[in-house]
Amino acid sequence: MSAYAFSSETPSKHPYPDARGRYGAFGGKFVPETLMPALEELDVAYAAAKADEEFQETLRRYQTTYVGRPTPLFFAERFTHHLGGAKVYFKREDLAHTGAHKINNALGQVLLAKRMGKKRIIAETGAGQHGVATATACALLGLECDVYMGSEDIERQKLNVIRMRLLGSKVVPVTSGSKTLKDAINEALRDWVTNVGHTHYVLGTVHGPHPFPLICRDFQSIIGRETRQQILEQEGRLPNTLIACVGGGSNSIGLFYDFIRDESIRMIGVEAGGRSLDPGEHAARFAGGSPGMLQGAMSYVLQDPNGQILGTHSVSAGLDYASVGPEHAYFRSVGRIEYTHAGDDEALEAFQAVSRLEGIIPALESAHALAHAMKIVPEMNKDDLVVVNMSGRGDKDVQQAARFLLPGETF
Ligand SMILES: *Cc1c(COP(=O)(O)O)cnc(C)c1O
Repeated sequence: MSAYAFSSETPSKHPYPDARGRYGAFGGKFVPETLMPALEELDVAYAAAKADEEFQETLRRYQTTYVGRPTPLFFAERFTHHLGGAKVYFKREDLAHTGAHKINNALGQVLLAKRMGKKRIIAETGAGQHGVATATACALLGLECDVYMGSEDIERQKLNVIRMRLLGSKVVPVTSGSKTLKDAINEALRDWVTNVGHTHYVLGTVHGPHPFPLICRDFQSIIGRETRQQILEQEGRLPNTLIACVGGGSNSIGLFYDFIRDESIRMIGVEAGGRSLDPGEHAARFAGGSPGMLQGAMSYVLQDPNGQILGTHSVSAGLDYASVGPEHAYFRSVGRIEYTHAGDDEALEAFQAVSRLEGIIPALESAHALAHAMKIVPEMNKDDLVVVNMSGRGDKDVQQAARFLLPGETF
């Protein structure tokens, strides 16, 4: 595998983030003065860890022996024949420990926190997937862990709440505001300001103030580095098209990043089209949003003309968020990555198709990327190669999916 457990160089044609943490007009660190020292400490500690061969080696060892990396690159033969166009491969992040790509970032950050001498980890979680990944890394490395979660989400995501508790973490209910992810993030930031001396905040995607988008992208970029090596081994050439779903944007940037300089490779990020593109009915920040600030970074945001954050909806909890990572806004502005959306119905149809054709029950998030593949692959040439990121497995979603796909089934 690659000499580096995570990215240690910025591709030459992509000079971002700059010293202020900006990606062109996007990114930055727009936070209260009290948080600035914590972000600066993290920035310095991260740069030191990146240059430390021993840290790289430790992370590499856990990636191999604990997470199960490299995850396979699988030729989806029946799905390919069903669509009748390009050859489709799945990058199997669903086979990573805990069932999704989120462990790549959680493990990297908790290891970094330990190197910084922190004793306590905090995180926030919506659907609970990032909370479970962080609780897992904390159990592995022996750190205390508190996970903030909206009380509304605690009710909806019982299974993940129980997993976190079994792993030894505390789940802290947040009862302010809408009692969901947005409010949990605010509480986590408040905690971090107060306890920054011994606490690290593990942010779960490529969003938030600098340096979080950079750190998370680097830890996730192993997905693309492995994919490059694996497709070269299996096909002797690079893929034509990469497709991934976009919530905050971490699994997609993780797949795309190592291919950014290969200008001929088309990259497509798929957002949640929900029930429709009416306000409140989707989470397609690029199709339905505009530039704005949320949670410490400049990016695209779903907001009304007065800048009030709009409600969102998606059948998949992991894509259901009002903003998107700033580096995506940048890559869209320069035309390097295309963004589109798939609706609830299309995602459910893809979920069903891939379950039956390949024996893989995908996460509903990943099903959005699969839905877009189902739209474009039939029009492609038979010798074209497409890689879809299977960001996670669908065990967590079977109840939600059954509600639509197996009417009459009771739990
Ligand atoms: C959280 C999650 C996502 C969305 O987050 P990104 O940061 O956009 O990757 C996608 N797929 C799965 C399986 C998830 O758990």
